[in-house]
Amino acid sequence: MAELWDEPPARVLAVYAHPDDPDISCGGTLAKWARAGSEVHVVICAAGDKGSSDPAANREMVIERRADEARQAGATLELAGLHLLGRSDGEFDNDVPLRSELVGLMRTHRPDVVVCPDPTAVFFGAHHYNHRDHRIVGWAALDSAAPASGSSLYFPESGPAHQIPVALLSGSLEANVWVDIETTIDQKLRAVARHESQLADANDWFASALRDGAQHAGRQAGVSYAEAFRRVLLI
Ligand SMILES: [Zn+2]
Repeated sequence: MAELWDEPPARVLAVYAHPDDPDISCGGTLAKWARAGSEVHVVICAAGDKGSSDPAANREMVIERRADEARQAGATLELAGLHLLGRSDGEFDNDVPLRSELVGLMRTHRPDVVVCPDPTAVFFGAHHYNHRDHRIVGWAALDSAAPASGSSLYFPESGPAHQIPVALLSGSLEANVWVDIETTIDQKLRAVARHESQLADANDWFASALRDGAQHAGRQAGVSYAEAFRRVLLI
């Protein structure tokens, strides 16, 4: 039987690429844990500046609009903090400056769980493959979580070392733990709906696709709605 994760961690840091990624990938889980008293911080590495199909769109306006949408979504999920790193979509790498920044956030917020994309999930069926920014952020988060955050020899300028016990990877093809999100599926969909610039007229379609996905994960775990993760124990 699929394992359900019941106990909310005390502190959580979720690291994602684009402003709407955490809400889509794990918004039900983050909202559930925040409501249960977890201190939940979200890091968005990219500005979402390529996320517009309007040829007349001004880059600065896209960035500001997406940041505003992320703040509204963060308030909907009742996050303790939202950290926008502002890198340009498609133009950043898993490099030392990014890992230094992520390690600094990990050592400041001292999470029990880091949530991030599964960077090994590349091809989803015959129709699409995972965005490079998701893969890069997944690896950057994992590389920052271990060994870097837990070893004071890495990035000594980024604060005292903090060992992170667990990484929880969303969008995985190898899920091994599920979180019941029956009480927060609607909150998740409200957070996703805050990203109006990405939805155009597709909100109803997208909301029902996300609901179907949560029902599918729920069936695997024997609950109504769930989010599925690959859990990796780091210590
Ligand atoms: Zn994305």
